[in-house]
Amino acid sequence: MTESLILEERKDSIKFGFEKTGKTAIKCESNSVSGAVSQRACVYCGARVVLNPITDAFHIVHGPIGCASYTWDIRGSLTSGSDLYRNSFSTDLTEQDIVFGGEKKLSAAIDEVVQKHNPKVIFVYATCIVGVIGDDVEAVCRHAEKKHGTRVIPVKSPGFSGNKSYGYKMACNAILELLKPHNDIPKTNGVNILGDFNLAGEMWIIKNYLNEIGIPVVSTITGDAGYDNLIKAPSARLNLVQCAGSMTYLAKKMEEKMDIPFIKVSFFGVEDTSQSLIRIAEAIGTEENIQKAKQFTQSETERLRPMLEKYRSRLEGKKAAIYVGGGFKAISLIRQFNQMGIETVVVGTQTGKPEEYEIITNLVGQNAVILDDANPAELETFMKEKEADILVGGVKERPLAYKLGIAFCDHNHERKHALAGYEGVVNFTKEINLSMNSPVWEYIKQET
Ligand code: SF4
Repeated sequence: MTESLILEERKDSIKFGFEKTGKTAIKCESNSVSGAVSQRACVYCGARVVLNPITDAFHIVHGPIGCASYTWDIRGSLTSGSDLYRNSFSTDLTEQDIVFGGEKKLSAAIDEVVQKHNPKVIFVYATCIVGVIGDDVEAVCRHAEKKHGTRVIPVKSPGFSGNKSYGYKMACNAILELLKPHNDIPKTNGVNILGDFNLAGEMWIIKNYLNEIGIPVVSTITGDAGYDNLIKAPSARLNLVQCAGSMTYLAKKMEEKMDIPFIKVSFFGVEDTSQSLIRIAEAIGTEENIQKAKQFTQSETERLRPMLEKYRSRLEGKKAAIYVGGGFKAISLIRQFNQMGIETVVVGTQTGKPEEYEIITNLVGQNAVILDDANPAELETFMKEKEADILVGGVKERPLAYKLGIAFCDHNHERKHALAGYEGVVNFTKEINLSMNSPVWEYIKQET
């Protein structure tokens, strides 16, 4: 089948998929269509997204050096303590290792890391070729744990074993393995924050808000997390799930094994941030905490109102396309655009869930295109068709926008300014205005 035929066929299924009649649900949570290039990364990359922000962990990538090119430098997150996680380690498997096996090389790598750095925890990622040659990574890790008395945790993440979501699940399993000896520690009155990766200091913003309303934070998973802080997670009374796509599985397992209930929250946009803080206070706090949350959110909302009104006049009537990892983030972005007077005309995710697509369908207009696991050709076609003025996405989507001569906003791991909380609303609104209203787009239109 040619690429254009695949595209036509997928366009039809996508269009039927989001009809508001409710007769047909969008097809999602499945592997990518064979033969079509997806925007999704591999299983190993999904696992690395979740685990890499643990600041004092050692991450050994067992595979060819190419897999290890996925480093802190291209998917950064911030730390208030150790910065060991900024290093990258690989067993650098070559042809000879593929023929004779890579277990000895992996054992030697772990020994060397322990000897030189004496870490508290080492994560060992199994990549594609390791899955093919059948190295017993679990056995090597078990043996190393006994030998060194250090936690050495395998992450079963060969790229071919599923899609990026499966990588999230494998990372969550690794976290569960890390927590296992501590599952029964006594409970304290506090929350864990799951699914914020502190890319540009968001975890600190959220922690400050919780501090403001009097809710203690026990552990952060995994933004700005350290081993000593992580292992206290089973003592929390409530889990807050920010990135639902990567962390709902872990939250469900923690509820089952550690008796910690969870609620989903979002700190993107004024509305979502305010509602989340009030819901957290209601779920775990006293009447005093609830009152504090209501007062704090109201005063922050009032503080931002003049700024939002000023920018709304510059943005009203524009059109946006969104392509992000998870459905929850897409929902928050549509709400933020609605507040700015911007219409979302294309919206898609890599790992959205049916219930999230249902909310998305109710938030956007009748003619919006909603798509799951898109490829570049699809994104380009729909952005052109719907005349989007800006694309919000990640590093893989940036060139698509610029090639089409439209503005781009990075809402992924590569950005350097916080987009969460009320501070994030200010940054996001200013960035959208600067990008969309830049005179450069007019020059490009004149050129073409
Ligand atoms: S698909 Fe396989 S070979 Fe490629 S980066 Fe992922 S784990 Fe490595």
